[in-house]
Amino acid sequence: MQIYRISALSDNYIFLLFDVAQKNAAVVDPAEAAPVLKKLEELDATLVAIFNTHHHHDHVGGNRALLNRFPDAIVYAGVHDRGRIPGQSVELNAGDRVQFSDRTAEVFFVPGHTRGHIAYYFPPVANEPGELFCGDTLFSAGCGRLFEGTPAQMVNSLSQIRALPDNTRVWCAHEYTLKNLKFALTIEPHNPDLQARFAQVQAAKDQPTIPADLELEKRINPFLRWDDPKIQTAIGQTDAIATFATLREKRNQF
Ligand code: ZN
Ligand code: FE
Repeated sequence: MQIYRISALSDNYIFLLFDVAQKNAAVVDPAEAAPVLKKLEELDATLVAIFNTHHHHDHVGGNRALLNRFPDAIVYAGVHDRGRIPGQSVELNAGDRVQFSDRTAEVFFVPGHTRGHIAYYFPPVANEPGELFCGDTLFSAGCGRLFEGTPAQMVNSLSQIRALPDNTRVWCAHEYTLKNLKFALTIEPHNPDLQARFAQVQAAKDQPTIPADLELEKRINPFLRWDDPKIQTAIGQTDAIATFATLREKRNQF
């Protein structure tokens, strides 16, 4: 399974999964159809599936036009997004499995950004790392805003992600990394891993930073470290949920 990263709208990423032998493709969160259709043509590929993580327009905006061109494509999305996903054909629950090419993804229910948000996790095989498509749940050095969920829900969702193996590539749906790193440095100015990542991203401005490396995220992302005493001290909280909530609040104001 090859994965292509396609830039869309102002700062979205669409991910195209490609089965080289079958010339089949699947797409994760098509914000818009045009750049996907272009890539499919380039690859001479047939679109067989759309994997949506949540109902926001910048994740499903291309569904209709893609279905017009590929009417047999199956549209996967969460059961709690029923009625909010154009063309949805399968309603997924936590623990369900979906197949693409020779890989099988596990479905995680990760509410917080929205109430029906799901993520797709392909465990590692042979020489390939694990792949996580998490929509707007986790960003590099950040996390999604809480539009329809509570801090406690988001912490629970992010704990599921944090529990995944280190060798997981995180395919976040937006390029927010530089701003997230600047914010993270206001919380932890002396974290050497964070400083190094900031220097690297800053030096390679305009270069994509996605996929993120989960092993590194566990060290630099404050939104994965609500129970770390260093973060709690910096925030002035002792409770995990309160720490997370305060962090999120501060990021909203940043
Ligand atoms: Zn969203
Ligand atoms: Fe989004």
